[in-house]
Amino acid sequence: MTATILDGRALSNTLREELDQAVAIFKEKHGVTPTIAVVRAGEDPASVSYAGAIQKTFDKRGMGFQLHTLPESASQDEIVALVTRLNADKEVHGIMIQEPLPRGIDEAAVKEALSPDKDVDGVHPVNTGRLAQVAPAGRPPMVGPFFVPATPAGGMEILKRYNVAISGKHAVVVGRSNIVGKPMALLLLRENATVTVCHSRTADLAAVCRTADILCAAVGQAKMIKGDWIKPGAVVIDFGVNFVEGQMCGDVDFDEAVEVAGMITPVPGGTGPMTNMMLALNVLEAARRIMG
Ligand code: NDP
Repeated sequence: MTATILDGRALSNTLREELDQAVAIFKEKHGVTPTIAVVRAGEDPASVSYAGAIQKTFDKRGMGFQLHTLPESASQDEIVALVTRLNADKEVHGIMIQEPLPRGIDEAAVKEALSPDKDVDGVHPVNTGRLAQVAPAGRPPMVGPFFVPATPAGGMEILKRYNVAISGKHAVVVGRSNIVGKPMALLLLRENATVTVCHSRTADLAAVCRTADILCAAVGQAKMIKGDWIKPGAVVIDFGVNFVEGQMCGDVDFDEAVEVAGMITPVPGGTGPMTNMMLALNVLEAARRIMG
């Protein structure tokens, strides 16, 4: 069997067209440009490059982008003061705090300083809490509106747009970070999947993966998930971004997996291109909520 490729690049182009229309309508209606403020302390190369990619996306979409940088020596009070100022800034609709923050900074305290209404990265406890408490699809949501981190939101969008049946399926998520694995597991649970979350202490990971109808990898280990870990016909969502000899690859051994899976995201070209588009959609949504 050769799997159907879940083409995140093509899908992100479709989303881009939809977003462009929605942004144009919003600007026309409110005379306001949906704007993100990215906060960084220090010059971590991956963060610098990620901020550049966000800026490119926002510039091209006619959305606002602000970069607020502090030196590596910035104190917790200085970072919190900047976030507090941006919370009150009417021209800013979404705020993203880039990690890693400098050593000695309490990341949780900085996240808590964010206004949940502008937390477009879905890291504030109000947003993570609402995601954890939201009712399953098909029932009244029970909680107020919230933001979901862009990467798992992109993974779910791929499943939805490719009409993958989720309800009643067994989904296995490998990885339990707050930004990818855990929210992905909660999103799948909301869609009525039966969810297993795996991590570095999981016993016989390969055997657990083999039981998955939907297998999501958010590990950060190049090609760790082998073809014989995959149930024939399973849907595989690979969030991994790794580099081996200068080549980008996922957490799944794609060449093996593509022969076994029913559907699979490639790396590059799968979940990656979706992330910035989902972030931009979150910023538009934040602006909509703020403008009423
Ligand atoms: P983290 O390092 O925060 O989390 C990795 C998770 O994988 C942890 O829960 C860890 O377990 C688990 N893990 C690590 N090694 C193993 C192992 N050998 N067996 C089983 N589980 C293991 O990573 P992130 O969640 O931030 O990122 C995951 C991947 O997704 C990375 O490749 C990252 O680059 C990529 N990524 C992609 C994005 C995109 O846009 N597509 C955006 C963000 C990240 P434990 O909790 O026990 O330590």
